[in-house]
Amino acid sequence: MLTAWDKRYLWHPFTQMRDWIEEEPVIIERGEGSYLIDIEGHRYIDGTASMWTNVHGHNRAELNAALKTQVDKIAHATLLGYSNIPAIYLAKKLVELTPAGLNKVFYSDNGSTAVEVALKMAYQYWQHKGQPQRKLFIHFDKAYHGDTVGAMSVGGIDSFHTTFDSLLFKGIRVSAPEIYRSLDAPETVKARCLKDIKRALVQHTQQIAGIILEPLIQGAGGMLVAPKGLLKDIATLAKRSETLLIVDEVMTGFGRTGKMWACEHENVTPDLLCTAKGLAGGYLPLAATLSTDKIYNAFLGEYRDRKTFFHGHTFTGNPLACAVALENIAIFERENLLTQLQTTISHFKTRLQEFYALPHVGDVRVCGLAAGVELVKNPENQTPYPLAEKVGTRVCKEALIRGAMLRPLVNTVVVMPPLQISISELDTLLDILYGSIAMVTG
Ligand SMILES: *Cc1c(COP(=O)(O)O)cnc(C)c1O
Repeated sequence: MLTAWDKRYLWHPFTQMRDWIEEEPVIIERGEGSYLIDIEGHRYIDGTASMWTNVHGHNRAELNAALKTQVDKIAHATLLGYSNIPAIYLAKKLVELTPAGLNKVFYSDNGSTAVEVALKMAYQYWQHKGQPQRKLFIHFDKAYHGDTVGAMSVGGIDSFHTTFDSLLFKGIRVSAPEIYRSLDAPETVKARCLKDIKRALVQHTQQIAGIILEPLIQGAGGMLVAPKGLLKDIATLAKRSETLLIVDEVMTGFGRTGKMWACEHENVTPDLLCTAKGLAGGYLPLAATLSTDKIYNAFLGEYRDRKTFFHGHTFTGNPLACAVALENIAIFERENLLTQLQTTISHFKTRLQEFYALPHVGDVRVCGLAAGVELVKNPENQTPYPLAEKVGTRVCKEALIRGAMLRPLVNTVVVMPPLQISISELDTLLDILYGSIAMVTG
């Protein structure tokens, strides 16, 4: 009955529904730590941390308790004109937790809106600074910042975005720092990328509102790990040309890269930082855009000056989500998770190197506890598998039968388990993936 009703009533995201209705959907009923359990009692390791959100595992007693405690007080109260307790505590905590200089928190509900907020803040900021001609954003090829119109406008994944091309605002798209297919050394890729940005900054001098990027790793674009130092160098360029740096930490935030924020790896404080996915531990939709005082102060003035940031979402600062987010952070601190995580990450990296023994594994890209295993028809010359072969999808289907839930980005299989996954669970997950790749590409 559930299967029939799913097919009858649901329209799934990023899904060709004609294919969907031909297949038997997995319907999840429960979660336990790193495992998802479906209505038939099958257990699957959550290899994508439930769409890159889960941090401490499913059904965590402490997170459940935080949610229950808060729901007995109030489920929602607005920040539009009023305030609420968890939203205040969390804002303070986020300011303490993020790179020094980010001092104000603006809430929304998801990664896309956190990005929209950052773009609109940057855009309006320049009007207040008497430079309204700064309207353009520099963004990256293969970037993913979400699916709302503004976020798509600074995105660079043609298969997602081309359909909506005429709807999107124009910016300046620069080449992705992609190493594998460029056949160049990381230093060369980095230099080329910086050259592109410099050229854009010179050609459009005084017109650039900001540079937006995913730090260290471009996620949905294929788990593309950037050359070391690129983030730092871009931050320097942004500063030198007096434009703004917007860092989208929606995927990388909350420990995913091995530090709380990807920015910390290169000692960068952006002007605006977006966070969402892991913010409430993977429990509830919550997002935040953090800004520096420089930006915040530019919006201060008499009401009639129209310097107000005219933006807000109905569920902004939702108390339930904020209460869970506070407990999410508290667990990091109590369990010293970031230290413990280093062992998991180094095991993950070592084990993933073994995948090169498989003849059709072309590239294994790892950043913290996030990886992409790219499958290619011919690794000698990086020939991709034709889309029609659906090799990524087939590998994930095989993995599902073997007890792991994974999702591909075309021919790249993403591995991104909850941060709290144990070494033995991680081994099981990687064994399943290895066996599935061997079977499908063998
Ligand atoms: C997932 C993601 C988004 C969009 O987040 P949603 O919550 O799906 O809107 C934006 N940026 C990055 C880097 C992401 O990974």
